[in-house]
Amino acid sequence: MFRNLYNLLYAYYGNLKWWPSETDDETVIGCILTQNTSWKNVEKAIEKMKSEHIDTLIEITRTDNEKLKDLIRSSGFYNQKSRYLSAVARAIIEKYGSLENMKNQNHEEVASFISGLPGVGNETMESIMLYALDYPVFVVDAYTFRFLKRYYGKDFSRKEIRAHAEEEFHGIDELKNFHGMIINLGKDFCKKTPVCKSCFLKSNCLYGKNQ
Ligand code: SF4
Repeated sequence: MFRNLYNLLYAYYGNLKWWPSETDDETVIGCILTQNTSWKNVEKAIEKMKSEHIDTLIEITRTDNEKLKDLIRSSGFYNQKSRYLSAVARAIIEKYGSLENMKNQNHEEVASFISGLPGVGNETMESIMLYALDYPVFVVDAYTFRFLKRYYGKDFSRKEIRAHAEEEFHGIDELKNFHGMIINLGKDFCKKTPVCKSCFLKSNCLYGKNQ
């Protein structure tokens, strides 16, 4: 179902090497900080954390809450997010010791552990599983729901989208890139108010064809 769409997106975007982070720890930090804010604001926070060498989970467990709040201020909701970051870092370090140790474990157990962490909803869990831990999980976010509804002319549930993507794409690279391409499309063309006239998917998209 998504293969043809993947190819169309790929012809335009190519391999985006998504997600934009340098380490697995940074990915987890980004997954928490990106909630309800733009990526630009997250980048500022991560840069500040890096400049003070507090950009790993282990360092976060050693940092007091006031300091953490100050570092991540630009990402918004910093009171809440600093608590989430500390709690997530502590739980992961206590149970597994490192993110590396969470890889290649029982998929369901790891997913269930991450889902139980404070401040982690479906999308954050999926992002951590795919981008930090390399499990074949598709990330379903608001861009995905909006775009697929317009493109196919129907609503999909998270479960349906994940089932199709995870069945059709064999390997984490395609799952990552499919998600990355949808995010970029959502920013470039398929915005809240879609820019169908200049969108490269116009002739394939159910919504776009009628514009
Ligand atoms: S044609 Fe319009 S609705 Fe369809 S993907 Fe492009 S911007 Fe979105």
